[in-house]
Amino acid sequence: MKIMKFGGTSVGKPERMHQVAQLITKDESEPRIVVLSALSGTTNSLVAIGDAMAAGQRDQAKEAIDKLEAHYQSFIKELVKTDKAYAKAKSIVSEHFEFLNIILKISFSEALSKDILAQGELLSTKLFSVYLEEKGIDHMLLPALEFMTIDAQDEPQLSTIKVKLKAILQQNSNKKLFITQGYICRNSRGEVDNLKRGGSDYTASLVAAAANASVCEIWTDIDGMHNNDPRIVKKTLPIEQLSFEEAAELAYFGAKILHPTCIWPAQQMKVPVKLLNTMQPEALGTTITQEAGSVGVKAVAAKDGIIVINIKSSRMLLAYGFLRKIFEVFEKYRTSIDMITTSEVAVSVTIDHGGNLTSIVKELEPFGTITVEDNNTIISVVGNEIAQTKDMLSKLFETLTPIPVRMVSYGGSKHNVSMLVPSSYKTQTLQLLNKGLFGLE
Ligand code: ASP
Ligand code: MG
Repeated sequence: MKIMKFGGTSVGKPERMHQVAQLITKDESEPRIVVLSALSGTTNSLVAIGDAMAAGQRDQAKEAIDKLEAHYQSFIKELVKTDKAYAKAKSIVSEHFEFLNIILKISFSEALSKDILAQGELLSTKLFSVYLEEKGIDHMLLPALEFMTIDAQDEPQLSTIKVKLKAILQQNSNKKLFITQGYICRNSRGEVDNLKRGGSDYTASLVAAAANASVCEIWTDIDGMHNNDPRIVKKTLPIEQLSFEEAAELAYFGAKILHPTCIWPAQQMKVPVKLLNTMQPEALGTTITQEAGSVGVKAVAAKDGIIVINIKSSRMLLAYGFLRKIFEVFEKYRTSIDMITTSEVAVSVTIDHGGNLTSIVKELEPFGTITVEDNNTIISVVGNEIAQTKDMLSKLFETLTPIPVRMVSYGGSKHNVSMLVPSSYKTQTLQLLNKGLFGLE
């Protein structure tokens, strides 16, 4: 079994969808499960529709629904050719927009907002299926809501997913091509839910693990993971091979191409993940496996919006149990810490969202003097055995001489050095590193 996931831009235009059909039928030596995102822009619109409804702005919601429907109406005109397929596509679009219009009339709830968000992936897969049918490509739609489940903590239940998916696949063992929705799932109450924004990658990795796939291909519009952010530096190079650990660090610390949560399921079942480019299907892309392939620095990534919380206390001196008390506050507010540095009298930690910042600060106050600094960026340097690479640190700090580095995290893992810099220095930092570590402009 092979998993092939296509993101929003890969299905965002009728001609792109046509190309996806070609890509998934090129090699038929293995059965395939194709995971699709919503058409690009759709989930953003659905979020806006939900927000407008939640705020009681029905007119605004209605306007956004109509605009989105018009987009789909013109999309299907170019998607299919025959009257029969067009009629089918049209009735699918009508059905889903009728549903949105019904929701508009009933009182809004959290559960309903999830139903709204699910329409994007339901539409993309159903419309794609109509196109495949028109082209005479045998396939089956696999409803993700029948096998993708999350528990009460919103964590996917891989073992349940495995059992459910296996049963469906076994019942349809004559089929060689399956199309399913990324992102959407059912929660522990049986309601429609989702795997959070960008979650289609997560779906793909979970399905790959559940089906013990030979490969999990993530098709986007760039030729794999690059050594640096192409939006910020002039020249970047794609990385051929990464270990799961390296990829996880890069995804978590800012590489946008892959959703950070999506590494563990594939890693657990040792399913190689390939990042491929729909616009350049022949390009090598990036392969993520158990093996790192080489030693040394591979890439840098940046994560913005980082908040530093400093806790300064003379009572920390020679005390034990101090860190535990601090960590408990973060645990209580389910806020994860990215970086931490300590001295004998102070601790600095970073978090990536300020959702519970006021409460956290309030609860930390009994432990010392608290100060908060926002607008920081974590710059992460990632590579296999990077910590053991000769002259690595001297090179790094020499390169960053002009940068006021605020925190450094080194030695936590063997393949990562992270630095915190004020966000205003992010561009300069990435540019200096591109030159200093990779010899690129
Ligand atoms: N459509 C969802 C989103 O835009 C999921 C995904 O594309 O991965 O967040
Ligand atoms: Mg994505």
